[in-house]
Amino acid sequence: MDFWRRTRLGAAALLDLVLPAECAGCGGAGVGWCASCASDLAAACFPLPRHTPPSPCPPGMPPVIAAARYTGALRAAIVAVKDGGRADARPLLTPLLAQAILVAAAHHQDLALVPMPSSRAAVRRRGEASVTVLCRQANALLGHPHQVLEALSPARRVADQAGLGSAERRANLVGAYAVPPRWRDELAGRDVLLVDDVVTTGATLTEGARALRAAGAHVVASAVVAATQRRGRADVPSGLTR
Ligand SMILES: [Zn+2]
Repeated sequence: MDFWRRTRLGAAALLDLVLPAECAGCGGAGVGWCASCASDLAAACFPLPRHTPPSPCPPGMPPVIAAARYTGALRAAIVAVKDGGRADARPLLTPLLAQAILVAAAHHQDLALVPMPSSRAAVRRRGEASVTVLCRQANALLGHPHQVLEALSPARRVADQAGLGSAERRANLVGAYAVPPRWRDELAGRDVLLVDDVVTTGATLTEGARALRAAGAHVVASAVVAATQRRGRADVPSGLTR
């Protein structure tokens, strides 16, 4: 094997380390995102981001604008980015979130984006706050980016939400988030848009909105990549941790 051939193989192996050669939607070999998953993703997207309130809608839930249904390859990609170390697939999600932010922020000047925080354990495990990174990258795609305020913090440990119904999730999340005192001046009287990757029962966004309102902010709406289309408790998704 000559030098150039060895070097090219070496470079290809290195590229595999940087960009895992597996589809983030179906795990198929060879590409980061396959044609079949691309068409599946297109089918999951709404023609325009739309208001997708959970049913039942928790009291205090801000209006939520989603770009797509949380299903199929998109669902797999969101889980892969968040829990599977597939940051390379995040560029699939950022344009969707950017569109949802654009629609949710329409008619509001001087709006600040507040991403839902990850748990401290998740940040340690993943090395990043996944929704915050997604929010910043989506915001950067906008012609007129908003200020991003990382003003919400986890206030306590929360049990795994998987398998819990709507009321149980709400009870599990009471007091889960807080606004640290250093953000209070910045937030008082400010219009804010909550940002998350997925809305399921709305319990997380409702609790985030409660904490922001307690700090004096005006929560105009929330924006997410995807919304679950619930058909009762059995459809509550699992496998996604905060
Ligand atoms: Zn695929």
